[in-house]
Amino acid sequence: MNLKSLISNWGNYPKIQANISAFDSIENLKTILTSKDFPHGIARGNGRCYGDSALSENIISTLKYNTIRKFDAANGVITAEAGVLFETIITAVLPSGWFLPVTPGTKFVTLGGAIASDIHGKNHHKEGSFSNHVLSLDLMLEDGRIVHCSKEENSELFLATCGGMGLTGIIVLATVQLKKVETSFIRQETLRAENIDHLMDLFESSKDWTYSVSWVDALSKGKSLGRGVLFRGEHALKSEVQLANSKADYLELKIKKNISIPFNFPSFTLNKLTVMLFNFYFFHKHSKEIKKDFVYFDSFFYPMDSILHWNRIYGKPGFMEYQFVFPKDTSRKGLNQVFKIIAESGLSPFFSGLKLFGNQNSYLSFPMEGYTMAFDFAVNRKVFALLDMLDQVIIEFGGRVYLTKDARMNAAVFANTYKNSELFKKLKSKFNPNNKYQSLQSRRIGISS
Ligand SMILES: Cc1cc2nc3c(=O)[nH]c(=O)nc-3n(C[C@H](O)[C@H](O)[C@H](O)COP(=O)(O)OP(=O)(O)OC[C@H]3O[C@@H](n4cnc5c(N)ncnc54)[C@H](O)[C@@H]3O)c2cc1C
Repeated sequence: MNLKSLISNWGNYPKIQANISAFDSIENLKTILTSKDFPHGIARGNGRCYGDSALSENIISTLKYNTIRKFDAANGVITAEAGVLFETIITAVLPSGWFLPVTPGTKFVTLGGAIASDIHGKNHHKEGSFSNHVLSLDLMLEDGRIVHCSKEENSELFLATCGGMGLTGIIVLATVQLKKVETSFIRQETLRAENIDHLMDLFESSKDWTYSVSWVDALSKGKSLGRGVLFRGEHALKSEVQLANSKADYLELKIKKNISIPFNFPSFTLNKLTVMLFNFYFFHKHSKEIKKDFVYFDSFFYPMDSILHWNRIYGKPGFMEYQFVFPKDTSRKGLNQVFKIIAESGLSPFFSGLKLFGNQNSYLSFPMEGYTMAFDFAVNRKVFALLDMLDQVIIEFGGRVYLTKDARMNAAVFANTYKNSELFKKLKSKFNPNNKYQSLQSRRIGISS
């Protein structure tokens, strides 16, 4: 029996006491799963989900199951164990001219976690979510059987596992098609938007760019409501980099040295004034003219990774990221309403960002064609009431909230917004009738009883 440890995910909310086991072989994992000390529980990768998706009374960490089994450098196909970090994959494949097909805003996620959340990047509108590029995976069901799944083989289970938040089984191995790149640089353009409508127009006119993402000033009001800065980018070609810097090492692998936030900041550090000052500075730092430059992939995709434990700036109570998506036809109206409600609440999200999604239809995967917005709020009493109110706007405009960032949505909101949730539940119980895989989140939102 393992000793209980205090554990939380990236938002540091909620924190619970849990038994944590780890495995380094399939036999080991099977022994844990079938032991009487494991009545139920959930897989955990690197805990970069924000809320309680990877929390349960019993947690199985995949971090020790972390070997790259095979890398075919001619075709860019990689097979790796679920606990391998994206950082390790990049280090292994970039020198041969390959990159991750889709990546989130941090490279400290595991392969298994990326599939279970079916993560999206800045390129969803053109290249879809991570599962689009997964050629196959091996999944351990609750009875210890391993099932090989892909779009062609056991396709229903494959589809439900991508975005299935660990509830269909434990992903142990996956094969992924990587993306060919000529250099480790991004050709970037930066554009300033004077309000939310202008920002959305910029996204529409940047649709042919592979990557686009924006920062938003959620505290601006009136004519400036939702002003922001859009970054768009393409993997730079050798010829472009050569022009900018003839001495460049095209596939250079140089990941920035990290600094670390050593302790939780006092809760008053982030208040309306500090957020307003930061937003004013960041907006005016960017001029009205389009700025063009070449940036290293690490600072384009992972700007926050150079500050380890940046989640501690929110203080001990932690923080929540509220990320939702609206369908394209309701996005403008819906977003305007959300900004107004936040402004009236007097609460200040420290970070806010907007991205464009392309079409997708899966069981529990988050993306749908439209706009996705994320706000980071420090945890306090008032935030829960605000987010409950915003949930109603999400329902009204046909959107949904991202499960991997969530720590508080209720079962009714989930059922109302995830239209395939009943289908998912049926499939989940077909393969795992004893309901062994469950998280605090899956019980709260009514997926597990
Ligand atoms: C700074 C930052 C930026 C981010 N940016 C983005 C972004 O741009 N786009 C995006 O989509 N997400 C983003 N995320 C969220 C993150 O990509 C996901 O939460 C991802 O799933 C975390 O991976 P992990 O390995 O840490 O998994 P965990 O957080 O440990 O687990 C997440 C979920 O995956 C399940 N899981 C983990 N491993 C397995 C496995 N082997 N088998 C079955 N289930 C498993 C868990 O049960 C849980 O439900 C960001 C997170 C951070 C901290």
